[in-house]
Amino acid sequence: MKRTKVKSALNDKAIGQEICLKGWVRTRRGSKNVSFIALNDGSTINNIQVVAEGDHFDEDLLKKITTGAAISVIGILVESKGSGQNVEVLAAAIEVLGEADADEYPLQPKKHSLDFLREKAHLRFRTNTFSAVFRLRHALTFAVHKFFNDKGFANIHTPIITGADAEGAGEMFQVTTLDLEMIPETGKVDYSEDFFGSKTNLTVSGQLEAELAAMALGQVYTFGPTFRAENSNTSRHLSEFWMIEPEVAFADLEENMDLAEEFLKYCIQYCITHCEDDLRFLDSRLENEEKSMKKEERSEMGLLEKLQFVIENDFVRLTYREAIDILRNSKPNKKKKFKYIIEGFGADLQSEHERYLVEKKFKKPVIITDYPKGIKAFYMKQNEDGETVRAMDILFPQIGEIVGGSQREDNLQKLEQRMDEMKVDKEELWWYLESRKFGSCTHSGFGLGFERLIMFVTGMKNIRDVIPFPRTPQNADF
Ligand code: ATP
Ligand code: MN
Repeated sequence: MKRTKVKSALNDKAIGQEICLKGWVRTRRGSKNVSFIALNDGSTINNIQVVAEGDHFDEDLLKKITTGAAISVIGILVESKGSGQNVEVLAAAIEVLGEADADEYPLQPKKHSLDFLREKAHLRFRTNTFSAVFRLRHALTFAVHKFFNDKGFANIHTPIITGADAEGAGEMFQVTTLDLEMIPETGKVDYSEDFFGSKTNLTVSGQLEAELAAMALGQVYTFGPTFRAENSNTSRHLSEFWMIEPEVAFADLEENMDLAEEFLKYCIQYCITHCEDDLRFLDSRLENEEKSMKKEERSEMGLLEKLQFVIENDFVRLTYREAIDILRNSKPNKKKKFKYIIEGFGADLQSEHERYLVEKKFKKPVIITDYPKGIKAFYMKQNEDGETVRAMDILFPQIGEIVGGSQREDNLQKLEQRMDEMKVDKEELWWYLESRKFGSCTHSGFGLGFERLIMFVTGMKNIRDVIPFPRTPQNADF
């Protein structure tokens, strides 16, 4: 008999029909006479109730129907007499496909902490919270591709192993087949002996290659894994994360910001439209989680309310100089409540400053533009003032920076000059420079950290809880 998904059994309500369900037992309760099994198969956050009447099933079978066991059920879909569900399945036959010894199975039908579940990452998919998070992660993946596809962008697969050490000096993972135990005593490694005949790393960004494609295809985007060996053990950083990087020819910074804002709102709206049950579950999960927190630490809005709010409101746009003025004159700065006191132009904004602007001052997503060139990458378009570049960062409540982007320097001379100043190897990036030599034009792009978007949409507070198997300093388990 063909398997019916729990989601369609609950939605289609084909009362009176015989169906076959397969899934994992969440709980079984009841008496000797009748058992109520909450069954979940991952198609929805909702369980279906299976009713097994005692006289139909022998005790040995029922004993094996424990939390975590995989079972197959054949039965009639009926209207439920109990409260809490509309329909249930009156079981005629149950087969235990895979037992889960109750004494050993780590997930009990009670609340487990997220820390505990992180250690059980191989099983945490089976909880309501993580199944909802990963269904949303999928929905967002699909929304990303749909958004760009509908706008006529081409998805470009940029290399994961790269020879360019362009951006993140010292933050890259090296890729080598050389025997690290055989490093010559001189300490000098001959990379011509290495697999690729030169030193190679895992990519920190697909941007430089995406720019090349944009110079022919017009509008492109990447969506791939990104690796950073930065030793920042925060709730917002992973060593391996996924990044979306659109790059658009003939677009200036203004159009870049418009695209990013439209894109973020589209993705959020997509989830609201397609993942209502999961979002409602996560909304109440967050509310419960915050009950134990101090009032001033709680979110001002519920999850769904917050998502709706972001869609309905324009992001605030201001320049770095304006942001610095606001921060310098802010209460926490004057009262020395910030860890890093803002003195003036040139200061790098720390997450405490970003959060002040977004959560206290504007209470909205904020886009900051025109940063000092000294704290931004070499490829950003230099402004006339000689001090700032056409950069933009989008800051979100609770998350901080979610997008970093810029208009790119399209003038070859200015680009080379900036590379010299910042000691970026021009020879290594000869191919990048040729894009400014042949048919150069205004173009812009940005990078969105996919996991940070998922954090925002799901309300999860630790980035380790929105990627199936997080990689962080000192941890690459599973
Ligand atoms: P941050 O200041 O938060 O470290 P960044 O300035 O290093 O960010 P970019 O190099 O501009 O970030 O990368 C683009 C986007 O990628 C960021 O806006 C963020 O959403 C995401 N991102 C950057 N580093 C990480 C990381 N280690 N883990 C997860 N996402 C990240
Ligand atoms: Mn960083």
